[in-house]
Amino acid sequence: MKIAVLAGDGIGPEIVAQALRVLEVLKKEGMAMEFVEAPLGGQAYDAYGHPYPEFTQQVCRAADAVLLGAVGGPQYDTLDRPLRPERGLLAIRKDLGLFANLRPAVLYPELANASTLKPEVVAGLDIMIVRELTGDVYFGQPRGIRVNPETGQREGFNTMIYSESEVRRIAHVAFQIAMKRRKKLCSVDKANVLETTEFWREIVTDVAKEYPEVELTHMYVDNAAMQLIRNPKQFDVIVTGNIFGDILSDEASMLTGSIGMLASASLNESKKGLYEPSHGSAPDIAGKNLANPIATILSAAMMLRYSFDQEAAATRIENAVKKVLAAGYRTADIYEPGMKKVSCSEMGELIVAAM
Ligand code: NAD
Repeated sequence: MKIAVLAGDGIGPEIVAQALRVLEVLKKEGMAMEFVEAPLGGQAYDAYGHPYPEFTQQVCRAADAVLLGAVGGPQYDTLDRPLRPERGLLAIRKDLGLFANLRPAVLYPELANASTLKPEVVAGLDIMIVRELTGDVYFGQPRGIRVNPETGQREGFNTMIYSESEVRRIAHVAFQIAMKRRKKLCSVDKANVLETTEFWREIVTDVAKEYPEVELTHMYVDNAAMQLIRNPKQFDVIVTGNIFGDILSDEASMLTGSIGMLASASLNESKKGLYEPSHGSAPDIAGKNLANPIATILSAAMMLRYSFDQEAAATRIENAVKKVLAAGYRTADIYEPGMKKVSCSEMGELIVAAM
């Protein structure tokens, strides 16, 4: 297992160090892992003058999976747009063909009070949102801002478009994930108004024939946004296009109320993946050993599950996280009175010990 390690900016190096400690446990026990470090984002701009330099491209292309911290920081906000850290992220996604974004929203019962929703609505929540990442209105052509020759008015325009192969491949990913979980898939669209998503629904329904064990339902996006708040535990896996997925995955993540806990994965057609926490580089707490490393540690567990088919090792890491939370240990972001407050590195140590 060749793993590219991109620590990135801000809290990136602190949280990635804890995920590596966890993986080192498995490596010492005999799992054949090799780690190759490379810079991304602001860190890469400082070293090479580009947020996704040639060196990093080569390391990532040669790897089987990429583990990433986070990129960005206020000192880079005045750079030309193509040189900003976030462009490095877009470039790596494109370079590796990462079309499937997996965002789990899991709420451990011990953290139910962190949510803004009533604990009984969210405790034990376990949803996986599968978002298509390389198509839809975000990439469709033509696009732009122009003067309409007929009216003389300025106007903005984008194109919502999905090809059959794009819908089929994301549908397969979603059905396969549902097969590993509770075998329920909800496809979210706006088929009553948008032809692109009427087509999406037709293709997802066709792909379903290959997965008779999975119960497929369809839901309009406006209703899905409402149901996620009203009764989120009705969902197992949700699959949707790029723009709806962008919005719904943020909504779902906030059900849990704790951004430091949320992992993510982006996969390509050969199961190579980029694994990263859902949060950013948190410059406000960088270098203070305060960050919550759990999202990054859970991202490493997803890497073992989705890129390397190491289900037992992934579950072992997830159970170690549960055990440490159940024992009352909390980083500052999820701290409540009565709990034991620990630093980023202490949290890593505790999870290693629990393994
Ligand atoms: P952020 O997610 O970095 O931080 C938002 C808030 O959550 C901050 O108060 C931060 O301290 C807190 N937080 C985030 N992660 C935490 C953790 N693991 N433990 C404890 N607290 C945590 O979002 P932002 O402040 O909007 O952005 C900061 C920088 O990160 C910007 O440069 C932005 O562009 C970048 N960013 C990067 C990514 C990425 O690398 N994928 C994603 C989002 C934002």
